[in-house]
Amino acid sequence: MPIVTKQMIAEFSSEFEVKDAIDKYGFVANTGGSTGKPLRVFRDKRFFWQAPYWRFYGWHVGRKLGNVGLDTFVWGMDDASIDRSKYRFSEREWVQRSVSFWPMQFYNVSPYAEFSDTVAGFVEELAKSPCAKIYAYAGGLDMLADYCIERGITFDNVAFIEVCASPLTKVIREKAEKVFGGGKIFDFYGSNEMGPMAIECQHSGPDHHLHLQNDLIHIDLVDDNGRPVDGEEVGTTIVTCFDNKVFPFVRYNHGDRTHWINKQCDCGLPFPCIAPVRGRVADYLTTIQGLHLDGVGFNEVFDFYPNAAKAFQFRQNKDGYAKFLVVPNTAYVNSIEEITLIFNKLNTDLSGKIEFTLELVNEIVYDGGKVRYIVHE
Ligand SMILES: [Zn+2]
Repeated sequence: MPIVTKQMIAEFSSEFEVKDAIDKYGFVANTGGSTGKPLRVFRDKRFFWQAPYWRFYGWHVGRKLGNVGLDTFVWGMDDASIDRSKYRFSEREWVQRSVSFWPMQFYNVSPYAEFSDTVAGFVEELAKSPCAKIYAYAGGLDMLADYCIERGITFDNVAFIEVCASPLTKVIREKAEKVFGGGKIFDFYGSNEMGPMAIECQHSGPDHHLHLQNDLIHIDLVDDNGRPVDGEEVGTTIVTCFDNKVFPFVRYNHGDRTHWINKQCDCGLPFPCIAPVRGRVADYLTTIQGLHLDGVGFNEVFDFYPNAAKAFQFRQNKDGYAKFLVVPNTAYVNSIEEITLIFNKLNTDLSGKIEFTLELVNEIVYDGGKVRYIVHE
């Protein structure tokens, strides 16, 4: 079967939509994609996407979320995640979700805010929790670990740290273990368009393998010619999703790099093992004060305006200043208006931290074909 590329979806998005079902059950789950274009894709509301997370927590924390005694902290998200949920769900569905999540307490740390503005409050709240879970971007966890190590702060109440959005390096893992203890930090592989796909096993040992959720998705790993890879040869992830009947993903080139680990895990779970995923890049922008802001938030600036631009990139050659390069979608009537809106919002949100200048360009040339949303010149 052929492989569906992000380019195909970018060009023929509406042809993937399952008519009738999409209006009733679809919600927008746009992704920055690796084409440099925001992709307009949908997920299916009929499949409760928190369920696989609960399964992970059941494995790792040993009890399900929803326990009144279990506080949950979410790191690395901001109000945009709430906006996005509101945008995805009807008011009634939003109420249902709020009720079902009621026992948990969320503490969000914005990837847009300066770390130093928020970290003290986060650490204070974290210390109060009887049992906390942290959902972290790798860059955020790195900064949190540095902050705690410098001040001699450690925690024994954090049960589970789920790390996403960029490779969890050995350095970050070791620093985080100093603060939170060993066996608490788990690499996570998921995406906007697919939801959760794999999570590191607590029995993984030095290879840090992840269990693929192959009852929810099927993954092929292929070489550059589209042939399945053998043994531990690194391949590209081609994903087929089983829980989306509004925007079917069949043999979709997700574009991440990993390899199989052909072994029976000590945990006894039937899910196949993959190596930690390589090739996800979380970059950063530097503020005038010299602080790094995680790049993931910047990758998502077009999420609400998927038709506005054909491509975009942030370029920085000086702390506190960044060029915002955008290729407008001339076929879309509100393109310039929406780009201007995003540009103004960036300057408002990051006022006093980063000053953006907007440049409308005809194309963005990516080095070696690899898309980079943030470039330091
Ligand atoms: Zn296992």
